[in-house]
Amino acid sequence: LLNELERENSLRPETTDGFMVQLAANLDSPETIGEVKKSGACGIGLFRTEYLFMNTSQLPTEEEQFEVYKDLLVKSGEQPVIIRTLDVGGDKFNTNIFRATEQNPFLGLRGIRLCLHERRDIFSTQLRALLRAGVYGNLRVMLPMVSSIREVNEVKQLVGELQEQLRREKLEFVSHLPLGVMIETPAAAILADRLAPLVDFFSIGTNDLVQYTMAIDRGNERVAYLYRPSHPAILELIRRTVEAARHNNIWVSICGQMASEPSLVPLLVGLGVHELSMAPSSIGMVRRVIRGLAMHEAEEAARQALACSNASDALAISEALLRKSA
Ligand code: PEP
Ligand code: MG
Repeated sequence: LLNELERENSLRPETTDGFMVQLAANLDSPETIGEVKKSGACGIGLFRTEYLFMNTSQLPTEEEQFEVYKDLLVKSGEQPVIIRTLDVGGDKFNTNIFRATEQNPFLGLRGIRLCLHERRDIFSTQLRALLRAGVYGNLRVMLPMVSSIREVNEVKQLVGELQEQLRREKLEFVSHLPLGVMIETPAAAILADRLAPLVDFFSIGTNDLVQYTMAIDRGNERVAYLYRPSHPAILELIRRTVEAARHNNIWVSICGQMASEPSLVPLLVGLGVHELSMAPSSIGMVRRVIRGLAMHEAEEAARQALACSNASDALAISEALLRKSA
């Protein structure tokens, strides 16, 4: 049985008509890196760095972060590793980082906003550690909670300044840092055509994209019945994002829960995303789904789902194709 599983994990995640969809792993800490290799993932599609900053009275130093990122890159060899910059705020708090409590933290100083506004010191330390660690592998960096062009430009300017600093200090660093934005606010999805020329890739964070588009707190059980990633409004935002990426020759990943939902994978493949990133334990199942699909059928299903007036009808179309392909 083990041999059989190993053989399956080495199969290419491609459709019956030969379209590859990269399958990458999400990691919340480096502890589970061993599972990434076993799953047959092509790399790390989302490394969340929050764990370094939570439940601690002392913020991690540049050296500490450098060691963590370097270790991850060395262990991943040539495989791409996408590290996300700090995304505290929302439901993830650390009173050592925040100056004030907020009434609506999910709409507050979260992710890139906090990093550029109140805590540029924390952000600069993290970016310096990333720039230095990048020398040891295939590093890409992505920004959470982006909702404007200006934020991306500010980050790029800051990266340039930090590179200049590192040069003066005669430390080793990467001169080109591939940079991506998470598409997880409706504003970012709507402006995808203007964001795409500024970055190297997009990663759609559907957990938040659904939350902010549908105005549904992702952790509130009383409105959980309304939380539907197959809602046509969400599918339309994904479609726009993929189209903008295609026009600008950059690639798009999906790193939210939706990417590992077998019943939704046919739609995501049909919408044309290049990569799905998920918990390593989900990769085997999603690979199986992809290997049963024909691209032209997935595309047709996506077209039909986009035209639906509600989430249930769109989901039914995806499920019907899944049953037929299995
Ligand atoms: C997302 O929002 O889909 C995502 C991947 O980020 P997080 O779940 O960490 O907010
Ligand atoms: Mg998110």
